[in-house]
Amino acid sequence: MQKLIDGYARFRSNVFPKQSGLFEKLAKGQQPQALFICCSDSRVVPEVVMQCEPGTLFPCRSVGNLVPPPTETASGVAATIEYAIRVLRIPDVVICGHSDCGAMKGILESEKIESLPAVRSYLEHAGPSSKWLTRLLKDATSLSFEQKLKLLTEANVIAQLQNLRNHPAVDDALKNNTVQVHGWVYDIGTGGILQFDAEQGCFRPLLPEEKTVVVTSSDRGRKIA
Ligand SMILES: [Zn+2]
Repeated sequence: MQKLIDGYARFRSNVFPKQSGLFEKLAKGQQPQALFICCSDSRVVPEVVMQCEPGTLFPCRSVGNLVPPPTETASGVAATIEYAIRVLRIPDVVICGHSDCGAMKGILESEKIESLPAVRSYLEHAGPSSKWLTRLLKDATSLSFEQKLKLLTEANVIAQLQNLRNHPAVDDALKNNTVQVHGWVYDIGTGGILQFDAEQGCFRPLLPEEKTVVVTSSDRGRKIA
């Protein structure tokens, strides 16, 4: 805890005074550019990766970057989505999965989360396609665990995009062309982001000059064309 308090002391003495104009403006309201739905994982810090000032992203942390269906009205994720779209009128929503995700590993190795009823229950929102894929992957002996994890992580982002579109606020905004939804996967080890290309049905690098990065323990960092 002391490390955190020391950090706060540095923020008060060094950072805040230098950015006092920004904080003065933010004290009066917010106009975020994107609702960013990502996992609770401590290694995924969108403000750092996107190099954003406070007030730019409207973050929504959810284990496994899951978006419970709109029928689950008590969900904090649903409330965040509704407020972001209907009140703040945020024009873009990103669902961002990530490499080495504990939630995705829990789906692949369900025996390891038997003693975690809350996690197990929440992961049900990963949806039928994840269950189907997980069953399929368990029989795919030619794939490494890392390859299976990557496939499941990408499939989960696609499934959550569908859940997101089903929320009434998002559905209305999509019909009015006032919102765009994006599916990303962030690789912790390389810093690379892949985005889902719905037309092509595949994930492509977010930046055009980036090459596809193979995310396996043996090939980590190796690039292919
Ligand atoms: Zn995660």
